[in-house]
Amino acid sequence: MAGTAQNPPITRRDFLDGVALALGAPLAAAAPSAGASADPPSRTGLQGQTDVTLAEAHAWRDAPERWRAATAQPDAALEDLVVVGSGISGLAGAHLFRQHAGRPVRILLLDALDDFGGHARRNEFVSRAGVRLVGYGGSQSLDSPGLFSPAVHSLLRDVGVELRRFETEFYDASWTRRHGVQGRGVYFDSDGAAGGRLVVRAAGDKPAAWIARTPMAARARADLLRLLTGRPDLMPGLSAEARRARLAAMTYRDFLQDLWRVDPAVLGFYAADTLGYFGVGIDATSALDAWAAGLPGFAGMRLGQGVDRRMSPSGRQLMASQDEYVHHFPDGNGGVARALLRALIPSAMPGTGMESLADGHADYARLDEPGQPVRLRLRATVVGLAHSGPPGAAKQVELRYVDAGGTLRSVRARQVLLACWHRVIARLTDELPAAQRIALDDQVKVPLVYANVLLSNWQAWKRAGIHSIKPVGGFWNEAALDFPVSMGKLRFADAPGQPVLVHLAKVVVAGDGRPARAQAAAGRAQLASWSFADFEFEIVRLLQGALGAFGLDAARDIEAITVNRWAHGYAYEYMRPWDSYWPQGALPCVAARRGWGRVAIANADAGAYAYAHSAIDQATRAVQDLLPEAKLPAWAPFPGPNPRAIGLA
Ligand SMILES: Cc1cc2nc3c(=O)[nH]c(=O)nc-3n(C[C@H](O)[C@H](O)[C@H](O)COP(=O)(O)OP(=O)(O)OC[C@H]3O[C@@H](n4cnc5c(N)ncnc54)[C@H](O)[C@@H]3O)c2cc1C
Repeated sequence: MAGTAQNPPITRRDFLDGVALALGAPLAAAAPSAGASADPPSRTGLQGQTDVTLAEAHAWRDAPERWRAATAQPDAALEDLVVVGSGISGLAGAHLFRQHAGRPVRILLLDALDDFGGHARRNEFVSRAGVRLVGYGGSQSLDSPGLFSPAVHSLLRDVGVELRRFETEFYDASWTRRHGVQGRGVYFDSDGAAGGRLVVRAAGDKPAAWIARTPMAARARADLLRLLTGRPDLMPGLSAEARRARLAAMTYRDFLQDLWRVDPAVLGFYAADTLGYFGVGIDATSALDAWAAGLPGFAGMRLGQGVDRRMSPSGRQLMASQDEYVHHFPDGNGGVARALLRALIPSAMPGTGMESLADGHADYARLDEPGQPVRLRLRATVVGLAHSGPPGAAKQVELRYVDAGGTLRSVRARQVLLACWHRVIARLTDELPAAQRIALDDQVKVPLVYANVLLSNWQAWKRAGIHSIKPVGGFWNEAALDFPVSMGKLRFADAPGQPVLVHLAKVVVAGDGRPARAQAAAGRAQLASWSFADFEFEIVRLLQGALGAFGLDAARDIEAITVNRWAHGYAYEYMRPWDSYWPQGALPCVAARRGWGRVAIANADAGAYAYAHSAIDQATRAVQDLLPEAKLPAWAPFPGPNPRAIGLA
């Protein structure tokens, strides 16, 4: 991994590591403006997969016969391709189809959301001082480009995303050092009247020093120090292979509890540290994946070198990656979605070059213009699909969708690319065999929340000397100042009196030791019960609690909040100890993504790998299915980085 002594290498963990306040009333300044703006990225309040944008899909899930019986208003045109889902996979699939069809084609993309990009969503703000700030509401960064397939490199190049420029031009690697905010806060939440405590871990602070400042009891402190500095061999007499096999069969929580025998407070300290990557806490992440993620406890374990085949796709990527975590547009992978949009509908994303992807405005009025070869229709929820005859012989497919006005419509297409989620596909049609529907239902997506808070200044962070907060206990899993990235006219703050975005994240799982799929389902139900006011309360509770002593006044400093709800978030990745068939057995995603008749299946779900590069790989595979004569570039054939590229072939 690159980096210098002054500016150490940047990893994703830098962003994951991140006085109880009685909050009487919501913050007037942060009041939601959902629907008030015609421009979806500028809408604050609760955004993403909200009750409103999911309403049609849920109504159809609960009473599918209602739609079957109803008469749909037909769209007149016959499309060459209808794409369901305008996330990165759908946009990439539309681009590839157009590029490789060998003739001019008409393409219609339909998406249930109010913005294109799916998880790759942009959040925009204008501060009271008139500064425009752009943040990411979902899919954060292009992760580990060194492990991307030829297909992903080729597509990004085609649409003008130049990976090298991220490494040299936009990311201000010395920002935290220059401003003296290299430290990290650890916030011990408390429900008691005494409030929480922020412990500042300054750069270079030895564990003994900062652990002594925590409010943990003496035994817990001693155990935490032992874990961070000790090098015991906890499996003497076993080979490296046998050790790894044991670690794959136990959770990291069990590893800490049963082998290290740490105090329960130490378990609480690390409880959330695996969530950002694996979508589950330490109670459901294998100890082997925790090792890949750099969690402590393995220094004396003599585990050998290299990636282990029993690691999850994300674990393999973490272990193998040599890239710095800097491939980040201000709007995260929203920048990639915009690059794809520009390639498909140039008038909707004017300008040239990466800077204008970041600082330009998408023209939403141009997305669905009659007469254009490619049209993208938002707030259009697809609720049915049938070939016009036996799928093997039919010449057309009919899709039914509910448009933004609530009208049931139908559209005909010569071919269809389903770039929506697998569990949606399982309910979309009667044409699939039961075994495939079961395989599609295996993709229980991980629910997440990403919030952006516009602060009028970051004086309190400067006084505390930190750029991130790791909450221990409490609601959020992490909070951090946004990435110090400047592109075009979007300049990151360079003085503490300037406005800045703070990013907060929460993976909503049960945390009760059950298998990951069950935890995600339980988390989704819990997420549905929280309102914007609940999130706002918890945002203020954390920021005021942690930084109030350093001068932050939430009522004065918070100008706006956007909470992006991703009830259906990360694609489920196979992982030990739950999925014993991984990696050798028959993988559900392979059975699930099989196309039929004139239909192919894309989406990150089809790769069981929760990344933008997986979404692109799966779009490539699916378009190759639709266009068997074309020669598309090589995509990653297996969940996770290509086994050959990481020494597992
Ligand atoms: C909070 C969060 C952070 C992430 N961070 C990263 C990251 O840092 N790096 C990374 O590489 N990946 C990250 N990911 C993973 C992310 O899933 C991928 O990067 C990528 O955006 C997935 O694209 P997709 O097109 O496969 O799926 P999606 O983005 O989910 O797109 C599918 C689309 O289908 C639409 N749809 C579903 N059902 C219907 C229907 N019936 N009718 C019409 N439309 C429908 C949905 O509205 C959605 O827009 C993150 C994901 C989340 C949720």
